[in-house]
This record gives sequence, structure tokens and C-alpha cells, in this order.
Amino acid sequence: MSKTDPLADLIAALQRLPGIGAKSAQRLAYHILKTPRADVDAMCDAMRSVKENITYCSICSNITSFDPCMYCISPERDARTICVVEQPENVAAIERTRGFKGHYHVLMGAISPLQGVGPDDLRIKPLLQRVGRTDIGEHERVTEVILATNPTVEGEATALYLARLLKPLGARVTRIAMGVPVGGDLDYTDEFTVSKAMEGRREV
Ligand SMILES: [Zn+2]
Repeated sequence: MSKTDPLADLIAALQRLPGIGAKSAQRLAYHILKTPRADVDAMCDAMRSVKENITYCSICSNITSFDPCMYCISPERDARTICVVEQPENVAAIERTRGFKGHYHVLMGAISPLQGVGPDDLRIKPLLQRVGRTDIGEHERVTEVILATNPTVEGEATALYLARLLKPLGARVTRIAMGVPVGGDLDYTDEFTVSKAMEGRREV
């Protein structure tokens, strides 16, 4: 960071955001420069608050401001069904459909040899522990695991890998239907399609 050129520093910082190129960064920086001080302060506070107050659920790894998260502790949700997704934003996409009332498990990514992401880099072990629990009553055990990883090469490979590990644990393992466009991402898909994908899930 240079002391001499705050605007250049801001442009450089904005350009590190996903999907923001040099031109957009410049446009945003000039916009911020013209924005009233109070609005900019509010934006800075919101960013700081996200870093200070949001953490990851110790059970499902979803983002939350308290631990365990609201999905894991809700008495209205069925702990016997676990929906596995890649990222916390995918939980939000499935919640928007209002059709799913089970629990979640966020992997924190997908297996991608090209990007150097292996099974040990993901929250796979805690998932196997959750599904394979024997210290709880029969009626509380996980009966279905829905693999809702993205319909990308990485998401498919991850689903196949998980299915192989999960099946011996005795739960039903299903994969969401491919109503979600191939190569797409759950959080950019409309609610109707996500909802249909969940309904049309099949055994793997
Ligand atoms: Zn949770």
C-alpha cells in the first residue's frame, strides 16, 4: 500500500475481488470516492462485522453467527437426512426452495486434482463420522445422504467418491437430478430448477 496514491490502492484492492477486472475496479473506486462518507463507513462496518461475527458451524461447516448453526439445532428439521453441498452459499440456494427440511454438510470445496484439492482438504471425514455414528438411537441415525455437489466435473467426481465411502455405512445415498445445467453452480440456478433437482434425485 502506498501512502501517496490511495485511489490506486483502492483500485488494486477491488481488483482482487472475484469477477472484478481492471475497468470495473476503476469504476467502483471512483463511485466510492463520490459516495457520502457515512455510506462508505457503513459499508466498511458491514465488511468488518462479517469477519468478526461470522464463523463456521462445528457440525456442518455452514456459515453462522452462533455455533452450532440454526439448521443443526432446529427441532423442526430432520437430522436423519443430510444434504451435502460444496459451499455455504449452496445451502442458501437450497433453502430458497423451502422444500428441504433436513440437515446440511458443507464440504468446503470439491475434489480437483488440477487445483491440488484432494479429499483430505475437504470436510469429508466429519461427514463420514456423522453418517456412521453408532452412539445414538436407531431412530436418530442418518438414513439418507443427498449429494448436491455442483454438476461440474469436480462436483461429479466428488459425488462418486463420497458415494463409494458412504454406501457401506448403511444410509441411502442419492444424487440430485441434472435439472441444474451441466457446468453450472447451485447458487446461480433458479429456485424452481434447484427444487426439481432435489425432487428428482436418484439412488447412486
Ligand atoms: Zn450446522
